[in-house]
Amino acid sequence: MTSINSELIIDGKILRKNISYIKEKLKDKSKFMAVIKSDAYGHHLENVVKDIDDLADGYGVVRLNEAKKIRNLSDKKILLMQGIYSQDELLEAKELNLDMVVHNSDQFQILKDNNSYNNLWLKINTGMNRLGFEIKEFLEIYDEHLHDKKFTLMTHLAASNDKDSLSNKNQFKLFNDLSKKMNKDVDLSIANTGCIMNFPEYTYDWVRCGIGIYGGYFKDQEIKTAMTLRSPIVNIRQIKKGERVGYDGRAEAQDNMSIATVYLGYADGLPLKIKDGTSVMINNQIAEVFGRVSMDLTTIDISNIENCSIGDWCEFFSEDLPMSNIAISNDLISYYFMTGVKSRVKKVYKRTD
Ligand SMILES: *Cc1c(COP(=O)(O)O)cnc(C)c1O
Repeated sequence: MTSINSELIIDGKILRKNISYIKEKLKDKSKFMAVIKSDAYGHHLENVVKDIDDLADGYGVVRLNEAKKIRNLSDKKILLMQGIYSQDELLEAKELNLDMVVHNSDQFQILKDNNSYNNLWLKINTGMNRLGFEIKEFLEIYDEHLHDKKFTLMTHLAASNDKDSLSNKNQFKLFNDLSKKMNKDVDLSIANTGCIMNFPEYTYDWVRCGIGIYGGYFKDQEIKTAMTLRSPIVNIRQIKKGERVGYDGRAEAQDNMSIATVYLGYADGLPLKIKDGTSVMINNQIAEVFGRVSMDLTTIDISNIENCSIGDWCEFFSEDLPMSNIAISNDLISYYFMTGVKSRVKKVYKRTD
């Protein structure tokens, strides 16, 4: 039996190219942590580790089960970026030789109770107001428990993509001032992808790079989308001026048109709110979404596409159609598309060798 499906194709070569390009921005001493939380932003954790292990100095994840999968494949540093939430998790993390973030006093209490001060990353709130110790609170802990310990001091930027945002300046200053009070063994880490690209002077000892690896950083054309989401055309029809397409008749034909229906809907992870006019690619030509996304189908205006037939692929993003296109034109972010594709879409990982 043959059957059709939409496909999510991941190209390991592009991941490697993106990493190599981003690493050129780092200061000599900065080490590169590949952030591969959330199944490597939807790219398949194990395959990604196998493909990039020689390029990474360490890995960042949030869940213990992801750390475990990495540990089976690599001896490199693995950081639990939200740390542990119980004694059991601490024991498991130690067993796997993980580094862990400590972001509040509840977590620090668990570590104190176990006299466990190795491999810690102390997270400071410098303005994001999500996780992290207040500076005063941290300094009390530092003076009492950490002043003679080796650890990494970290914080996270709220607006790293915005070069001119005042919040970055404030966060850098708070972090920098605090770092001067630390003993000489303390490492520093602040940079995610946006910070590496916009503020390379702050790459310090460790960068924590996620979205740039996968090509979702949209302000530098050298960084390429590593995922292709494509779906076959299952029907083509002609409609007349004034006719409407799809639920609620959202799209109305201003002229006679050709409409292709493709095998991908919101149950596959394509957001419901995708707007009419969003670019897709068919046979290397740009076509546009026309009509509301359904559960299993999406309709495309192919009036201007040459040689288009049932079975042809419609690409929603790819190396040639950057994910930032569909993200920006729909007021979404590439992180959301990467992590949103559902399991019923066939995932194909192309290894580098
Ligand atoms: C996800 C995450 C990153 C990676 O951010 P990108 O913008 O994807 O590069 C860095 N640091 C922490 C703490 C994170 O949770």
